[in-house]
Amino acid sequence: MIINVDNVEYQPQRIFCVGRNYRAHIQELNNDLPKTPVIFCKPASSLVSHEVAEIPYPRHGGKPHFETELVVLIGNSGIPVDNEAAKKLIAGLGIGLDLTLREVQTELIAKALPWEKSKGFDASAPLGKILPFDPATDLNNLTFSCAVNGIPRQHGNSANMIFTIPEIMLEIARYWSFLPGDLIFTGTPQGVGALDRGDIIEINSELFGKYSWKLA
Ligand code: ZN
Repeated sequence: MIINVDNVEYQPQRIFCVGRNYRAHIQELNNDLPKTPVIFCKPASSLVSHEVAEIPYPRHGGKPHFETELVVLIGNSGIPVDNEAAKKLIAGLGIGLDLTLREVQTELIAKALPWEKSKGFDASAPLGKILPFDPATDLNNLTFSCAVNGIPRQHGNSANMIFTIPEIMLEIARYWSFLPGDLIFTGTPQGVGALDRGDIIEINSELFGKYSWKLA
């Protein structure tokens, strides 16, 4: 998928995701509070454009669960050393869904196995439009929400993140040097739930727009 921001084309090769980054969501899944950000990856092929109307229903593993998240697009290569340097690597921001096969994930966690089968399946990363990052944006006060079939389900504010966006970036950079086009899904607030075939999921943010997909 090509992402165009400020007339620059980015082709994401990697999607980094943060697990367990909002206290109330950790509580709803009965997980422990992490001491460092939980990082996992999805293949870039799991992206679904906001210009596509339908998400194919997963071929395995029960019902997909929605997780609405703020998404960061990296514009430059580099290994940031502090929060300010991290912010300088950001090219754009948006919202997206980290679709999750919760039953599969619960099984994998119980067996201490990797999460890819539950998190990195086809079409598991629907993405809204990425808008150019304005350095004056307060990264700690970004609001977003989702609704399923018109019923509000999740409300998030980055103020409630355990690890801020720059802190997440510094953690990722301990293991991977950033590349232009990298995407970071920054974790979900409480209110996650299952989707059925035919459901319409809509994600919304005052700053980043409103996008919807039908589970087909
Ligand atoms: Zn997530």
